[in-house]
Amino acid sequence: MINKLLIANRGEIALRILRAAKELKIPTVAAYSEADKDLMHVKMADESICIGPADSTQSYLNIPAIISAMELSGADGVHPGYGFLSENPDFAEKVEKSGFDFVGPPASVIRMMGNKISAKEFALNSGLPIVPGSSGPIDQDTHKKAEEIGYPVIIKAASGGGGRGMRIVYSADELNNAIELTQQESAVAFGDSTVYLEKFLESPRHIEVQVLADRHGNVLHLGDRDCSMQRRHQKVIEEAPAMGIKKEKREEIYAQCIEACRQLDYTSAGTFEFLYENDNFYFIEMNTRIQVEHPVTESVTGLDLVKLQLRIARDEELKIKQEDIVLKGHAIECRINAENSETYLPSPGKILEYHAPGGIGVRMDSHLYKDYTVPPYYDSLIAKVICRANDREDARARLERALDEMYVLGIDTNLDMHRKLIKDPNFINGTFNINYLENLNKDK
Ligand code: ADP
Repeated sequence: MINKLLIANRGEIALRILRAAKELKIPTVAAYSEADKDLMHVKMADESICIGPADSTQSYLNIPAIISAMELSGADGVHPGYGFLSENPDFAEKVEKSGFDFVGPPASVIRMMGNKISAKEFALNSGLPIVPGSSGPIDQDTHKKAEEIGYPVIIKAASGGGGRGMRIVYSADELNNAIELTQQESAVAFGDSTVYLEKFLESPRHIEVQVLADRHGNVLHLGDRDCSMQRRHQKVIEEAPAMGIKKEKREEIYAQCIEACRQLDYTSAGTFEFLYENDNFYFIEMNTRIQVEHPVTESVTGLDLVKLQLRIARDEELKIKQEDIVLKGHAIECRINAENSETYLPSPGKILEYHAPGGIGVRMDSHLYKDYTVPPYYDSLIAKVICRANDREDARARLERALDEMYVLGIDTNLDMHRKLIKDPNFINGTFNINYLENLNKDK
């Protein structure tokens, strides 16, 4: 039912969740680390509870600490946001077993889709098109498989995430070494050394489909997003809808995603991620949680995805039907990070001055305020600027205006990079793929 919600996250997404809960009149408890007592949502929540030291393994990733915070505060539901424990099936299971509500799909679904090998196997069986590759972990047939699909190939960690745990291989003599290195790295980073092989697509776009399902059998798609502007396999700018995809192709992939959700008994919000090349979709993974870029979909559908997640977790039935979802206009989001523009290293510190952009069609999702100190321990995302307008060019021009209005003094940010990037002729024309930003940086 969720009569009191524990927010087990921090930063902009914690504030986003708090806002949705407030609108639903659900009392909130902010679970925060010792480094985060000054976070905006901690001040705004009905209650707050410290769950441990700054180090996230002892706080935001500490399952017993979060469960006790629920018990102590009387919270009966938990929203994990993104990152941290949001895709940890052991956490979801523990929440379920404690008799609490986890805002997300069942633990069993998270477990299956959280492993990229079992997710691909499921996708294949459910009829989704997948990237050609090994049908399971690396084995003695891997060399043969690589020859068969043709180089370049990519070795990927089954438990990988955040753009880490991937290695591109251009020829057979590099393969064994690449496998070994990726196995070692993923054992350290993800506690699982399982890796698999996939065809490396050389110039695809990253297109994803947002889905939403309730616990009463209603499944909806909310259209697609293009997240091809990436650095180190991580998204930098996202937009909805994706440009230039034929209507029939879209309808086909939406239908396949809905069918996959039905087969999975999926509930809550989720995203099917694809690479898209030469008019074809190739499934790469599913995110069983709310994503950083969800506001672009909210902007074109007018729906509040986090509120809908909470309603679904309260067992409510979705009132909207597929035909009610009409996309209006175009939305673009820039991820603003506290980072050095040359080295890309995080730039924590005190915000001396800060001005958020505003005006028609501008949405700012940020936990920043003047005198707030960005701690060095976590992801460096400090704000998302999202603009919507009737068409892509108007949304882009609005974003250009909004980014010009914004300023953050006291720390380094990537604002200037965004200001340049959205004026880049290839961004304006939509002629870019997942390699574009990386190549642009190489040329510098
Ligand atoms: P993560 O879970 O770390 O986000 P993904 O599997 O979603 O990993 O991939 C992230 C990004 O890595 C993709 O958007 C794409 O840029 C790149 N990538 C992943 N698989 C491939 C592939 N087979 N060929 C080319 N690029 C890939």
